[in-house]
Amino acid sequence: MVYGPAVRVGPDDWGCRMLPAQFDYMVASSVEEAVSAKAEGGDEARFLAGGQSLLPMMKLRFATPGKLIDINRIAGLDAIERRNGHLHVGALVRHADIAASDEVSGAVASAAPWIADPLVRNLGTMCGSVAHCDPEGDWNTVLLATGAEVVAVGPSGSRTIAIGDFVEDFFTNSLADDEMVTGLRIPVASGRSGGSYQKLERKVGDYATVGVAAHLELAADGTIGAAGVAMTSVAPINRKAPGAEALLVGNAPSDELFAEAGAAAAAAADPRDDVRGSARWKRQVVAAFTRRALAAAAEQAQS
Ligand SMILES: Cc1cc2nc3c(=O)[nH]c(=O)nc-3n(C[C@H](O)[C@H](O)[C@H](O)COP(=O)(O)OP(=O)(O)OC[C@H]3O[C@@H](n4cnc5c(N)ncnc54)[C@H](O)[C@@H]3O)c2cc1C
Repeated sequence: MVYGPAVRVGPDDWGCRMLPAQFDYMVASSVEEAVSAKAEGGDEARFLAGGQSLLPMMKLRFATPGKLIDINRIAGLDAIERRNGHLHVGALVRHADIAASDEVSGAVASAAPWIADPLVRNLGTMCGSVAHCDPEGDWNTVLLATGAEVVAVGPSGSRTIAIGDFVEDFFTNSLADDEMVTGLRIPVASGRSGGSYQKLERKVGDYATVGVAAHLELAADGTIGAAGVAMTSVAPINRKAPGAEALLVGNAPSDELFAEAGAAAAAAADPRDDVRGSARWKRQVVAAFTRRALAAAAEQAQS
C-alpha cells in the first residue's frame, strides 16, 4: 500500500504485463484532500471505493483513468445512522454492512442480500454503486422508489441532489468534476410504511434480468398516502414508474390495484431483447414483480 502523493502504477514501472493502462495512484486521508485531488485531476481522475465496478472496467480498458484517488482511508464515512427522519449511509458503507444493519428496513433491507455475491458485497459500496449509474445496478432503483438524496461535497461546500436528478444517463451522474459523494439520505417514514425489492437473476450473484422496487406509506384511514415504484435493467437508466405511483396514491391496497399498477409499470419499461430474454417477456416480469413488490410492501406496512 502506498500512502501520500500519487505514484505511477503500470507496465512502465513494473516491467511486466498487466491489463489496465498506466495510472497514478494516491490515498486520500480526508474528504478535502480527495476533492482537491479530483479538482486537480478533473475528468481524468476517478475515486476508488470498493473497486468492484471500476477495476473490472479498467482491466477491460473500458475505463482508462489517469489517476485513482483511493478514498478507503477517509475516517467517518462508514456509518449507517438514523438522523432527522432519514437514514444516512456514508460513502464507505459496504453492501454487506447494509445487509447486516438493524437500522435498515423496507426496500433497502430487502435489496441488500440481492446485490452481487458475498465477495463483492464485502468490498463494494452503496455510494460507489449509486455513482456508477449502471442501469443494471440495484441500488439506484431502490433509491428512486424511496425518494432518496445524494450528498455531494466539492471545493465550495456540500449539496444534496435528488436521486432522480443525480442519475443523468447510462453510466453518467450529474456530479461536477470536482465533487465527491460523501453519503446518501434515505427518508424514513414516520407512519406505517413498507417496501420490497424483487429481482430476477439467471444465477446467484448475477445482475438483474429485471428488478422492481416498491415503497408504500399508508395514511391514517389505511389508504395509500405515498408510493414509489422503480425498475432495474429494463431501460437505459434505472427508471421510475410514475403512472403506477399515481394509480396507487389515494386508494386502498388490493390485489386488483396492484395488478393495475403492475400493468402501468410494464408500460413504462423499455426493455431490449438480449441473452437474458425477450423484451416482451421482460415486460411481463415487470408487471408480475411490481404486483409482488407492492403486495409485500403493503403487508409490511399493515403489520
Ligand atoms: C461479479 C460482480 C457482480 C456484481 N453484481 C451486482 C449486482 O447484482 N447488483 C449491483 O447493483 N451491482 C453489482 N455489481 C457491482 C457492485 O455492486 C459494485 O460494488 C458497485 O457497482 C460499485 O461500488 P464500488 O464501491 O465497488 O465502486 P468503485 O468500483 O470503486 O467505483 C465505481 C465508480 O463510482 C465512482 N465512485 C465511487 N465512489 C465514489 C464516491 N464516493 N463519489 C463519487 N464517485 C464515486 C468511481 O470513481 C467509479 O467511477 C457487481 C460487481 C461484480 C464485480
